[in-house]
Amino acid sequence: MKFQQVYYVLDPESRILWVGGDWDDFALSNGGAGACSNRVLSTPLFQHVAGETTRRALARMIAAVRDLGQPLRLDYRCDSPTLSRRFQLTIQPMKDGRVLLVHDLRDARAFGARLPRWHSDASAAAQKCSFCGAVHLPRRGWNFAEDLGEYHPRAVEYVLCPGCTAQIDDAVTRLRKDGAPRSAATGGFGPVAD
Ligand SMILES: [Zn+2]
Repeated sequence: MKFQQVYYVLDPESRILWVGGDWDDFALSNGGAGACSNRVLSTPLFQHVAGETTRRALARMIAAVRDLGQPLRLDYRCDSPTLSRRFQLTIQPMKDGRVLLVHDLRDARAFGARLPRWHSDASAAAQKCSFCGAVHLPRRGWNFAEDLGEYHPRAVEYVLCPGCTAQIDDAVTRLRKDGAPRSAATGGFGPVAD
């Protein structure tokens, strides 16, 4: 998980037409070794995204960009066991129903305590937000990853936390209402009490 920037173009059916930047590192952090760049062309993007709610949220954002012909930006976290990392995703409309997605590394900071390595497991008891990295534990509710340290779970189901769900809903709703470029990042991402 070393990528600084990755970008890819989707066709109108959201199949990957073209990739650039550090796709292989990006894919390894998200979809595993089978997702390296020479094997993903013409495959559906959503095949490489973990978690049904994450896929739905991404699909809604891409659909809004296509429908309105306006870009959407979203800050999100994609941490490693040692680094808290903030990225910005820009979804940019192109001609003929194509869209360009750009993921840019904005900031990386070392965690005070290293987290264990974790993997995606749809049947895990712990849930992890795909957008802010917060972790929901049975009986403990939502926690920031940095507050868990060595107690961060090894297996997580990728979901959206309530705070990120609300921010994405708001960004898509405002884009559809105003038809103007909006950022979902103004309030800062993070979980809210459930
Ligand atoms: Zn979240």
